[in-house]
Amino acid sequence: LSTWSAVPAGPPDPILGVTEAFKADKDPRKINLGVGAYRDENGKPYVLPSVLKAEEIITASKADKEYLPITGLADFTKLAAKLAYGADSAPLQEGRISSTQSISGTGALRIGGAFLARHYPHSKTIFLPVPSWGNHTPVFRDSGLEVKGYRYFDKKTVGLDFAGLKEDLRNAPEKSIVLLHACAHNPTGVDPTPEQWAEISDICKERGLFPFFDMAYQGFASGNTARDAFALRHFVKEGHQVALAQSFAKNMGLYGERVGLFSLTTSSPEEKARVDSQVKIIVRPMYSNPPIHGARIAGTILGSPELYTQWESEVAGMANRIISMRDKLYDTLTHDLKTPGEWRHIKSQIGMFSFTGLTPPQTKALAEKAHIYMTGDGRISMAGLNGGNIVYFAEGVNAAVR
Ligand code: PLP
Repeated sequence: LSTWSAVPAGPPDPILGVTEAFKADKDPRKINLGVGAYRDENGKPYVLPSVLKAEEIITASKADKEYLPITGLADFTKLAAKLAYGADSAPLQEGRISSTQSISGTGALRIGGAFLARHYPHSKTIFLPVPSWGNHTPVFRDSGLEVKGYRYFDKKTVGLDFAGLKEDLRNAPEKSIVLLHACAHNPTGVDPTPEQWAEISDICKERGLFPFFDMAYQGFASGNTARDAFALRHFVKEGHQVALAQSFAKNMGLYGERVGLFSLTTSSPEEKARVDSQVKIIVRPMYSNPPIHGARIAGTILGSPELYTQWESEVAGMANRIISMRDKLYDTLTHDLKTPGEWRHIKSQIGMFSFTGLTPPQTKALAEKAHIYMTGDGRISMAGLNGGNIVYFAEGVNAAVR
């Protein structure tokens, strides 16, 4: 008998499963709207020109391949924290942000989960929005936290269930941990307004809730990195101590390079040093130290005024192309095809994704009849749409809902 004969087969990943089905489809009209990676106007992966320039600079410098410190490349981590918190952030200026380079956003969430499980002195329960990115629950559960949910999305309005959100946060046990998507909520594309963020901040204060921000899309939501950091910066200004997971997968297109940052705001440089020492104790047995190349790319871009300006316009370019696809899809459905239903949410939603409101049977029909692939919850990656396929997609949706 094999040692592994009792290992049960696990369920396939719901998102990667969509890609498998897409690959197997031989129809030339096929469209993959499942994957959360940017595609250009021709449906191709996009390497940012600023990234290519940074790589040329790195190659020319003949940099070595020595190990990084446990907490990563300092030239990258300092600038990444500045990008998130803002140059005028008090904890940044006062040297009291503990930060460590991470294996992209997922790794940052995992380090944060482990740190909170070990050192957070209060309730070890983290509240996630319902729904949330599918990997949040296993990441935090495997980190040793208990996972619960707070209401977030209202199916009826295809918008934010703000009353439900407030009620659930008010009823959460004092000093619980709350996961907040900093911008471009995945999977719904629905974000609180600045006024709603201010109220959420007040509730967190009243209840002593600990905010853990997941910022996987800074710049990708509005095209402006400062605007997309509003929620995080507001909370910090309001005096909250926060945890933050940053990813450079989407906004620099560095998906496979795995570049991210985990950070915590502390009360003093002395406290920061203690926290740093414990973050190192968590990282060292997990993967010893992070990879170097992607951090060099991000650090080079963030550290060069010229490349930084170029990068910001490239992020805006990606965000704006997505926004233009939202407008075009809305217009085609509403005006050209007179598709039944209300589609304004396609335009009001933010970031990479749109929760279309399509039902599981409709998404199944779209795959079988029109070769259009998306997750069963009706979420589409707007980046998968372009001038060449958007009308075909709209026609497929139109047929599926009639
Ligand atoms: N958090 C959210 C909300 C995401 O959507 C993603 C990626 O899809 C991530 C975190 C982490 O991505 P990565 O580990 O590639 O940075």
